[in-house]
Amino acid sequence: PRETTDVVIIGSGGAGLAAAVSARDAGAKVVVLEKEPVPGGNTKLAAGGMNAAETKPQAKLGIVDKKQIMIDDTMKGGRNINNPELVKVLANNSSDSIDWLTALGADMNDVGRMGGASVNRSHRPTGGAGVGAHVAQALWDAAVAREADIRLNSRVVRILEDGAGQVTGVLVQGAYTGYYVIKADAVVVATGGFAKNNDRVAKYDAKLKGFKATNHPGATGDGLDVATQAGADTVDLEYVQAHPTYSPVGGVMVTEAVRGNGAILVNREGKRFVNEITTRDKASAAILAQKGESAYLLFDDSVRKSLSKIEGYVHLKIVNEGKTVKELADKLGMPAAELEKTIGTYNGFVKSGKDEQFERADMPRELASAPYYAIEVAPAVHHTMGGVKIDTKAEVVSKEGKLIKGMYAAGEVTGGVHGANRLGGNAISDIVTFGRIAGAEAAKFAKDN
Ligand code: ADP
Repeated sequence: PRETTDVVIIGSGGAGLAAAVSARDAGAKVVVLEKEPVPGGNTKLAAGGMNAAETKPQAKLGIVDKKQIMIDDTMKGGRNINNPELVKVLANNSSDSIDWLTALGADMNDVGRMGGASVNRSHRPTGGAGVGAHVAQALWDAAVAREADIRLNSRVVRILEDGAGQVTGVLVQGAYTGYYVIKADAVVVATGGFAKNNDRVAKYDAKLKGFKATNHPGATGDGLDVATQAGADTVDLEYVQAHPTYSPVGGVMVTEAVRGNGAILVNREGKRFVNEITTRDKASAAILAQKGESAYLLFDDSVRKSLSKIEGYVHLKIVNEGKTVKELADKLGMPAAELEKTIGTYNGFVKSGKDEQFERADMPRELASAPYYAIEVAPAVHHTMGGVKIDTKAEVVSKEGKLIKGMYAAGEVTGGVHGANRLGGNAISDIVTFGRIAGAEAAKFAKDN
């Protein structure tokens, strides 16, 4: 006997779990299938924040923002090739998505700055703990409380269709069950990106061949193949993002929030070389242009105290420390006088409010409290912008340009929201908002069928 359900969700990252919660709230029976032995996907590794405009936490902190500015920043960061309709959905629902997460028990009350944003709108838990793990946990708890049927070690290998443009279910390969079919009225593809699959990354962007990746092992792109085999069209696959600050020593990504909270980037000569809070593509290219193809993220004790995430980096022993700037420079083999001058000049810019070298817009604090710290950083593959083509209701568009009935997609597996370059903080925003929409729309479709 074949199993039946209303909605099957492929993937248990943020997009999949948000879809599960919203589909359950719309009254649908839901099965979530996750190929890995642990839930949370790449979402649980997200370290920055969730971009949202005109929110309650912003209002509390006196931050004035507009949804339109978030739209403009996102389009500009994406080099204007984003699908503007999807960007509008992202920004216009972002504040509601913060409220929705908060109602599920998440703490999104700290607001900081990420690259490419002209306003502080990166929402994260108080104290700056990792946003992804926090959001993934809140969504997991909510999905479990709503009795979504979540199965780990369960890979979807095919989306089944009726031959007339409508999905009918999925073929599952369970690590402990063998193959089986679940019939479903609607399927939500929420399988994430393929940054961990370097062969595939290099196919689209040869410059990234052999690069390390910041992603979890499941970010291979097999979910994208499952969707395209079932007829889905794709967009923007050639755009792959490197995150500028990966620690080659620790094998971890260092969150952009360290720069957002005040760190600068210096090269081996002890000099700044870029606006640290520019977009990720530009910051990565600038680091690769330095001697040794890496740089140092430099900050003081006030930055450390502003972001609890930094304590984790200290535990990983990737943070060099000096009681004085000179001691730190000596440890790094950097000319101390040059580094002192760089910091002095930068602190002057903080005071005057104008970065006369690189036009960094936001300089939240002077680097003047000892001890001083430095983390060596280099770019690593981080996010795949392209993917399944969707419309504003997260419905999947086929290669023939028609909607595939009953097929929805959300999160990193989709393309169009971020254009050629994703802004830090827009991934969590994307997965929560489009995950919610996909779940609700899939439930509605299932009900009507
Ligand atoms: P997003 O941020 O878009 O939610 P994530 O990477 O957080 O993306 O989550 C995607 C999840 O989907 C991962 O946990 C990944 O292991 C899972 N996944 C990918 N492909 C499949 C598949 N074919 N079947 C089941 N799960 C999959």
